[in-house]
Amino acid sequence: MTPEAEEFLRRAIDLAATARKSGNPPFGSLLVGPDGTVVAEDHNTSITDNDISAHPEFKLAKWAARELDPETAAGTTMYTSCQPCGMCAGAIARSGLGRVVYALSGDQLDGLKPGGGFAPVPEEGPALHDEARVPVDGYYS
Ligand SMILES: [Zn+2]
Repeated sequence: MTPEAEEFLRRAIDLAATARKSGNPPFGSLLVGPDGTVVAEDHNTSITDNDISAHPEFKLAKWAARELDPETAAGTTMYTSCQPCGMCAGAIARSGLGRVVYALSGDQLDGLKPGGGFAPVPEEGPALHDEARVPVDGYYS
């Protein structure tokens, strides 16, 4: 980890403290361009927005996909106070960001929670392949 990267992580940790002071879960993130310029930053607002998707990583991934061209997005690094959760990791992958650098790991975070992490919801499938593929066939070609 470079000293510059540690400074960006410290900014993410400051944003996490801001989130907590505002009554939200303590997480913060920023996007940094290849020249070291901070292009966007945010903190968790899932309580005050009453929105389970208001994680800073998710908000920044949506912002990048909407506001940045793909080449610019690919040149950015997300610095975040905690390893992105599954929801955010999926959004980050879809947004085309170049890299993620985090402070706390997801396991380290779970270790700080009395009840640990979220239990996975049972899934069932695949099913109805011939019917389900009809609206998809040809879409990606
Ligand atoms: Zn998340």
